Amino acid sequence: MKCRHCDHEVKHAFADLGSSPPSNAYLTKAALNKPEKWFPLKVMVCDQCWLVQTEDFADAHELFDADYAYFSSFSSSWLNHVDVYVQAMITRFQLNASSKVVEVAANDGYLLQYVKAKNIPCLGVEPTHSTAVAARDKGIEIVESFFGVALAKELVATGHQADLTAANNVLAHVPDINDFVSGFTHLLKPNGVSTFEFPHLVNLVQQNQFDTIYHEHFSYLSLTSVKAVFEKNGLEVFDVEEIPTHGGSLRVYAQRADTGSHLKTARLQDLLAKESSAGVDSIAFYENFQEKVNHIKDELIIFLTEAKRAGKKVIAYGAAAKGNTLLNFAGIRPDLLPCVVDKNPAKQNKFMPGSRIPITSEEVIHTQKPDYILILPWNIKSEVIAQLSYTKAWSAKFVTAIPKLTTQ
Ligand SMILES: [Zn+2]
Repeated sequence: MKCRHCDHEVKHAFADLGSSPPSNAYLTKAALNKPEKWFPLKVMVCDQCWLVQTEDFADAHELFDADYAYFSSFSSSWLNHVDVYVQAMITRFQLNASSKVVEVAANDGYLLQYVKAKNIPCLGVEPTHSTAVAARDKGIEIVESFFGVALAKELVATGHQADLTAANNVLAHVPDINDFVSGFTHLLKPNGVSTFEFPHLVNLVQQNQFDTIYHEHFSYLSLTSVKAVFEKNGLEVFDVEEIPTHGGSLRVYAQRADTGSHLKTARLQDLLAKESSAGVDSIAFYENFQEKVNHIKDELIIFLTEAKRAGKKVIAYGAAAKGNTLLNFAGIRPDLLPCVVDKNPAKQNKFMPGSRIPITSEEVIHTQKPDYILILPWNIKSEVIAQLSYTKAWSAKFVTAIPKLTTQ
């Protein structure tokens, strides 16, 4: 296959997770009578630009379900994260009532609500109808569309040229990364700033976060590869921060290469050097990942099998996409894990894709008093443990599978 970014022939495998249905294709009870479509889940790395990327396959367009039900506002720690971000951007880039903020992948307005509260004009771009409706309910203007050069030109023509753009956890999701990035070059005012947040590939590799690999993620990004993609598309990275979200992410600050005047920071140079010394620009960095992934799978199967044999009750918490990758790769089914609890009513009474494990409300924790609660979204582990602190009453233990099987 050819690299999504630089068109070079891609020949090195990074991780092969077998095959699974799309990670957000939650099943209704009626759908259990029908077959599911499973797609190969294999990730490759380009040895020219170091973009880690999913392998292309036929029928990729069938991956996306219009019912996609992730609402960002369901996570309180995520809301706090973006509230702090908005205040920091207003101060640093002196945003005011004559500025314009555009968020791409605005979801349910979780971020722009804080921009709007400061009376700064804003606009969201969001292709998913159900979340766009939720954002409009917060009084936020939403363009229901996918983002790229064509939409950026339209937005500029209709008075939405941006002082600040935000794009959180979307850069990895776009199949045409060049067109997407180039869209920001078109959308920005001459001195405007674009920020992007995405999980950091270095953490994925070093912390064994293979469950963040799923079909909807086309790219797995390092600062090294992002810088290369941006440069080809008219954007210049001038700053970067390491942030704790999603198991360790980067927030990259970029400006138009032709007109931007922000100076490059020392921490940008530091992180590029750190990536280089970790080996991001050498093929050895990507080798042996599969072996670590296989080991985590084995440990989880052993834990669940032994718990079952000992007569212990285990349930899972958090019907997140990453949970689906883990459960399907490990071949876990309801005999070993009878249910997954989730706060989101849109997921309750449905079934996990592939594994077909039922998704229930939190009520089941009260009625069944499980001995072990396997937290699938390990990135919000402390939030979940705090929320479920009442399970101390019967000494329930919390389990996470990544970076290695841990019980506490
Ligand atoms: Zn490449």
